[in-house]
Amino acid sequence: MTRIAFIGLGNMGGGMAANQAKAGREVMAFDLSAAALDRAAAAGCSTAGSVAEAVRTADAVVTMLPAGPHVRQVYAEHILPHAPKTALLVDSSTIDVESARAVAAQAKAAGFRFADAPVSGGTAAADAGTLAFMVGCDEADFAAVEGVIAPMSRVTLRAGDHGAGQAAKICNNMVLGISMIGVCEAFALAEKLGLDGERFFDIASRSSGQCWSLTSYCPWPGPVPTAPSNRDYEGGFSTAMMLKDLKLAQEAAAKSGAATPLGSTAEGLYALFDRLGGGSKDFSAILEMLRGKAPQTN
Ligand code: NAD
Repeated sequence: MTRIAFIGLGNMGGGMAANQAKAGREVMAFDLSAAALDRAAAAGCSTAGSVAEAVRTADAVVTMLPAGPHVRQVYAEHILPHAPKTALLVDSSTIDVESARAVAAQAKAAGFRFADAPVSGGTAAADAGTLAFMVGCDEADFAAVEGVIAPMSRVTLRAGDHGAGQAAKICNNMVLGISMIGVCEAFALAEKLGLDGERFFDIASRSSGQCWSLTSYCPWPGPVPTAPSNRDYEGGFSTAMMLKDLKLAQEAAAKSGAATPLGSTAEGLYALFDRLGGGSKDFSAILEMLRGKAPQTN
């Protein structure tokens, strides 16, 4: 039986580890939070008292941690010194490209295979095992990485070498942040012009304004029943998470010299919405700010 060490059992990692166990794999899970460990145990995982204990006999290690510094520390201090060299290391956290490349280089120098494999899709996709994975790894390792990821995934695509998975993730989410603001501005303008929101949706979704933010995740309540706009913007992908990804994109743009003026503006607008209290709301709630309303926090 494949033995998976799963480190980081939060909103995303909890469901992902559960899907590894559901697929019949022996999952040894670890998180700093006792409540997260209890949830993992209830989902069929064995729990470990430390990262070192979790990885000691693993065939593969999957990490789902908050940000770059956590990933750097957990790999340098706990995974690389204690995992067997045969273990395939997969980091699915969303982190900066530089950290991903640094961890990959350390892992490779220590004799490990490593992949950065961030995900698209929120907690519902993590629970359902339908995430999209964007992978940066050696070409020769991709089939093995796909095998580890399979129970958690709807689609797994190789973006390129180490760091390319994280690059794909922040570029994708920069498109998403910008396009959501564009769609929200259009609804705010339509409203001022006396154009019914649902009618505008019917027209734009069949015209050149069509995009994912409009037709799959409509920020205007009504036209897309599954969108968070229909549940007071609760759940979904939080503004704080979108802001984190836009910041990563801007840091990468500054370091690489790419011109991303709309990405920069999107970051500024999401930072403002966060400051106004919208951080925990779904990122499509920025429509409220553009309509001149304060976010409705609970
Ligand atoms: P989360 O904060 O809910 O979970 C992170 C978990 O890591 C926590 O349970 C925390 O206790 C644990 N942790 C932190 N340091 C640790 C350590 N040293 N050892 C063991 N465990 C440790 O975050 P999340 O929402 O699950 O997101 C995880 C990653 O996935 C982030 O990088 C995020 O950007 C990315 N992501 C999140 C979503 C989303 O919708 N939530 C979607 C796509 C990607």
